[in-house]
Amino acid sequence: HVHPDAALLQANASVPMREDQAHYLGAVLRRGAGDAVRLFNQRDGEWEASIGQLHKRGRGDFLLSHQVRPSCDEGGPVLLFAPLKRDATDLVVRMATELGVRAIRPVLTERTNTGRVNLDRLRAIATEAAEQCERLSVPDLLEPVRLPDLLGGWPPDAPIWAAIERSAAVGGPTALGAALLIGPEGGFTPHELDLLRSRPFVAAVSLGGRILRADTAVAAGLACLQAGRER
Ligand code: SAM
Repeated sequence: HVHPDAALLQANASVPMREDQAHYLGAVLRRGAGDAVRLFNQRDGEWEASIGQLHKRGRGDFLLSHQVRPSCDEGGPVLLFAPLKRDATDLVVRMATELGVRAIRPVLTERTNTGRVNLDRLRAIATEAAEQCERLSVPDLLEPVRLPDLLGGWPPDAPIWAAIERSAAVGGPTALGAALLIGPEGGFTPHELDLLRSRPFVAAVSLGGRILRADTAVAAGLACLQAGRER
């Protein structure tokens, strides 16, 4: 299940292979010319294909045959999360992609430790995760935004589930098409909690009685939203 760089997927087309894909298919999976693969992108869906050429120097191409799944709107929630240390952020992006988010947006809070987010790197991680879990789209990686600016520009008819530990909230997040907000390791500040509570479209949710690490909280919250969905 391979996501090529921008290319039109259509019958009999030849699609260039990226260097990392050539390396993975040839050196890691030991595949060669004629072996079957599937290619996908959000616009054209999923296609049966085979490896055309595969050169040692990391070049090659795919030959397309026919479409096996049409493109579809993946739906799914938006993940809003305070960026963590590099490895934890990578993990969050990988898990969120597997758990079906349609977009991921880093949110800078008062206790966020790192303001530096390499969106290109995270896009590559999301692409790999989409390939692995056989989704038909890669989630959008959106520019980081400060929490007050996020809330200021948010459409009031779209709910945000804000995961807040030790809150009086009892239920976990349940609605489809919603957004899930997870705070930094240090949690939201009292000022941010006031800000969140002042917005009618923000609902505080609990992820249980234990305090979860932020990356675990992302997985737990998204798993609640994922449960019961068909895709
Ligand atoms: N330092 C904070 C404290 O001790 O109170 C804990 C922050 S927690 C490690 C990081 C984030 O995960 C929180 O901001 C919240 O969004 C989420 N979280 C963790 N456990 C949670 C729970 N039981 N219910 C709701 N949200 C939780």
